[in-house]
Amino acid sequence: MKYDVTYSCGHEGVVQLYGKGSERERKIEWYESCGLCPECYKAHMREEEAKLVKDIESKFDLPQLVGTPKQIEWAVKIRAKGIARFPKQLTDDYKLFFEVLSDPQKLAERAAEQEITSDDLKARMTAFLDQMDKLPTYDYEHIVYLFMTTNSAKTIIDNRSWAE
Ligand SMILES: [Zn+2]
Repeated sequence: MKYDVTYSCGHEGVVQLYGKGSERERKIEWYESCGLCPECYKAHMREEEAKLVKDIESKFDLPQLVGTPKQIEWAVKIRAKGIARFPKQLTDDYKLFFEVLSDPQKLAERAAEQEITSDDLKARMTAFLDQMDKLPTYDYEHIVYLFMTTNSAKTIIDNRSWAE
């Protein structure tokens, strides 16, 4: 049966409902109290996506992507969704890792903790990244690494299934 409903956003629409009468009434109530019309729902999802991108970009120091403007626009969203989905422990470890690697002060502190020189620590960290780079593309660790380090919009797009 088709029903006229007024969504919670105030827009009107027609919904197709099945099932028992009481169930249909419950669904109509839901549409009217919390449901958004298809247009507002799309706008809401776009907003949520933009918020996620902003959150992730501000939290992690991610490379500026290269590619066509369309590729970049798409890849930025895929990257944010992927990073939000990966285990937090893993992405935080990488974040810390890159912070240490790019900050001589932090690098020196870490090296002192391990009783080695900054140069040795840097060499170890760089060797670790090389190793990550050589892992197969179906390896989860590699994908997390890739999402956080590649500047290729195309590479992110090619691996979008990891972010879905
Ligand atoms: Zn609406």
